[in-house]
Amino acid sequence: MKTYVIMLAGGRGERMKSSLNKVLMPVCGRPAIIRSLDAFIPFADETVIVARPDDQPAIRDEIGKSGLAFPFRFAEGGITRQASVLNGLRSIAPDPVDIVLIHDAARCLVKPDLIERVMLSVKETGSGVPGIPATSTYKICDGNSFVLSTPDRSKLFEVQTPQGFTAGVIIPASVKAAEEGIDCTDDAGVLEHCGIPVRIVRGDPDNIKLTEPGDLSRARSILEGDVSAMRVGMGYDVHRLVPGRKLILCGVEIPFELGLLGHSDADVALHALMDAMLGACALGDIGKHFPDTDERFRGISSVLLLRETARILQEHGFRVYNADITIAAQQPKLLPFIARMAENVSSALDLPAGRISIKATTTEKLGFEGRMEGISSYAVCSVVGQKPDGTVF
Ligand code: MG
Repeated sequence: MKTYVIMLAGGRGERMKSSLNKVLMPVCGRPAIIRSLDAFIPFADETVIVARPDDQPAIRDEIGKSGLAFPFRFAEGGITRQASVLNGLRSIAPDPVDIVLIHDAARCLVKPDLIERVMLSVKETGSGVPGIPATSTYKICDGNSFVLSTPDRSKLFEVQTPQGFTAGVIIPASVKAAEEGIDCTDDAGVLEHCGIPVRIVRGDPDNIKLTEPGDLSRARSILEGDVSAMRVGMGYDVHRLVPGRKLILCGVEIPFELGLLGHSDADVALHALMDAMLGACALGDIGKHFPDTDERFRGISSVLLLRETARILQEHGFRVYNADITIAAQQPKLLPFIARMAENVSSALDLPAGRISIKATTTEKLGFEGRMEGISSYAVCSVVGQKPDGTVF
């Protein structure tokens, strides 16, 4: 038995008020369609992406950049959702018992357990459609907004995708609906039209569809956790400037006649950042995790210690959301090195560049930094909780 995935990526995103197809919009740094495709890779034998010809090169490009490796082909988007699905179904040649999963790429938060529930239901009954029991009361109105009736809430479900069917059921039903000019807004509707039973499985409230601009921030907050689950930490560090040592800040070696003295590479900025990270999670400080009496840490690159700190956070269910570092140094001028420093930090923490800020200041020749006896650094960072499966607390 094979599983075919029909990924619908044909939307124009008019309600999203964007010229870009909404499935190409980044959600926490990854285009929606890549998130959707990634979720189905473990289940799909063949994937058909249904998209407008104009969008196909950009989608192909994003798949290339994502590093995801899976067999896929394109089918052309139709005028309606149902026409798009039919184009997708016409491009596959399954056995009647094979599973067809039809998914809106704009539901990019779909999780594997939901896909599994749908597939199980298809194996048992021939269909599986995720649904959420209605919690609000709904009204059926006429064209002038006058209420006609109130449907029984206990029988109402809001349906999602992926909707799954055996190929022997969905293909003839879709062809029949098209021939009879029936337009349905979901695939279960096509079966209902043909009098074929459709079974609802438990949906996932987080499996939202990106439709309106506000949905992007909702998706982000689902992925990154509630702001109430966010924690903040601060770190401060000082190292002495001496001759005969390298000056290394955020992993960048900066040409200067003086360097920072310390047991490791004395990267004062990364030390402040690591203390902020550990502080946010109440996990002590770098002295506790990397004692300067330990020979393993002599001369070590603090970038390695930063990676290790990120691992310690992960072990405790946390990851950095953003960080802001200030370096106080009278000399040298740090501006030319800031971009490389930020790159080092975002790559060590595996974060998008926009989440890392690095700033340099002098102290107007005041204090030990002003006298060039040392360099100090302050860092603030926020962290969010993350469960082992990557979802957020
Ligand atoms: Mg230090």
